[in-house]
Amino acid sequence: MSSTGTANTRIPVTLIPGDGIGPECVGSARRILEAAGAPIEWEECQAGAEVFKRGLPSGVPPETMDSITRTRVALKGPLETPVGFGEKSANVTLRKLFETYANVRPVREMPGVKTPYSGRGVDLVIVRENVEDLYAGIEYAQTPGVAECLKLISVKGCEKIARFAFEYARSEGRASVACATKANIMKMTEGTLKRVFEEVAPDYPDIESWHVIIDNCAHQLVKRPEQFGVIVTTNMNGDIISDLSSALIGGLGYAPSANIGNEIAIFEAVHGSAPKYAGKDVINPTAVILSAVMMLRYLELFEQADAIEHAIGVTLESGVLTGDVMGYDKGTPTTVYTDAIISNLGKRSETWTVREHTPLKLPKLAPEADYVRPATRAVVGLDVFIESPFSATELGASLMELTADTKLSLKMVSSRGTKVFPPTGAITDTLDHWRARFIIRENPGDLPDDDVHELLQRISSRHRWMHIEKLQEFDGELGFTRDQGEN
Ligand code: NAP
Repeated sequence: MSSTGTANTRIPVTLIPGDGIGPECVGSARRILEAAGAPIEWEECQAGAEVFKRGLPSGVPPETMDSITRTRVALKGPLETPVGFGEKSANVTLRKLFETYANVRPVREMPGVKTPYSGRGVDLVIVRENVEDLYAGIEYAQTPGVAECLKLISVKGCEKIARFAFEYARSEGRASVACATKANIMKMTEGTLKRVFEEVAPDYPDIESWHVIIDNCAHQLVKRPEQFGVIVTTNMNGDIISDLSSALIGGLGYAPSANIGNEIAIFEAVHGSAPKYAGKDVINPTAVILSAVMMLRYLELFEQADAIEHAIGVTLESGVLTGDVMGYDKGTPTTVYTDAIISNLGKRSETWTVREHTPLKLPKLAPEADYVRPATRAVVGLDVFIESPFSATELGASLMELTADTKLSLKMVSSRGTKVFPPTGAITDTLDHWRARFIIRENPGDLPDDDVHELLQRISSRHRWMHIEKLQEFDGELGFTRDQGEN
């Protein structure tokens, strides 16, 4: 799929040691790859905590960006993210800036690692959409007391990830792809992945496909994980179920991942920087080592990849296990575990079989930005988001009075998606945040800006508005949802 190394050529790869336990895990993987003879030229670069401390809000310096742009392949350790305020996640920044839209997270029972699931043959792959959804991180404090996060899901993004999942299943000879969404509640965002998945599935008749609601998927993963081959899902769902799934096989210490785009691939463990274990020589580096093995296959260095997988298998079978599964007072130190894997290079595991891989065909979609072009479109109204300390009844009456002779009539006011005006008799706790839905009184289809300005000026004379959203229809389909209680 990418450049191959020969005895004389070395493949440049960007290496980001990362934060917390990152340098220990990445150091272990690097030593093992070098011992296995992988022809790689490492370009060591920084990202994460140190970079934030230098005052760079992205956490990713230009020289790291340049290196990845040049090498097109990176192996990275986990990067710390400040929680709840300030800087963005440098991990998400890297994934998004390089459009690595597919996050591939294999979960496979490891030899010699005892879990309640041992012997059941857990062997699945989560394909997580990696650049859209809530992780776009578009957030606003709309009022002093209410914050919003935009969940953006595109048809194009869904088609890329759905086709990627089927192609990945084919490349690994897997029999099925399940699509896990919350389409029953979020019909437009999560529903898009379900709909697009079902549209592309017939192009892959050799692979069984079905849809499962994400909460049931979590339940099924715990109850009967062996039923799954590939699971494709949206970004947030994928994040949660991949941590859950890793616990089935011994924990995050055994969960590798690859962020794959059409141009660039970044390999890293699922886990984070686990700062409490940093520098103690106790953590399990297997997840990063297995991520590096995925990288070797991406680089078509199959021989070295297979050798390392077997050496890990032999090491684990021999009972050499780290503190995460043995207890941190009894586990094999990270460095000793790494030495054991190196000493087992060339041996074949009795229980581990290397999965057959054929080259992965990345889906190539039409590049147009306006990927979906409706034959018809119309505007039927306007939602205005308002900050007000009024009660629902007071606000509704006030808005009706203010807008009585405009082109738009007030249909309802809602609080967090529940209709509260005209009153429904329901008991709804309310806040300073409201959505007023206005419908075009006559001839819906077009809403000139002058009519929008007129409406907003009327509202502004008494209330604060902070956001508007046009109510649109594409090809006769509603482009907005109704509220709870709205008819
Ligand atoms: P975490 O670093 O993944 O650690 C959570 C727990 O998982 C650890 O306390 C430990 O559990 C176990 N664990 C993780 N890696 C392990 C390993 N290699 N060996 C053994 N056990 C391991 O999650 P977090 O504490 O929520 O996050 C810490 C920081 O990492 C945050 O700043 C977060 O934003 C960041 N993060 C980065 C990435 C990334 O770079 N891709 C991903 C996730 C989180 P026990 O204590 O039970 O043994």
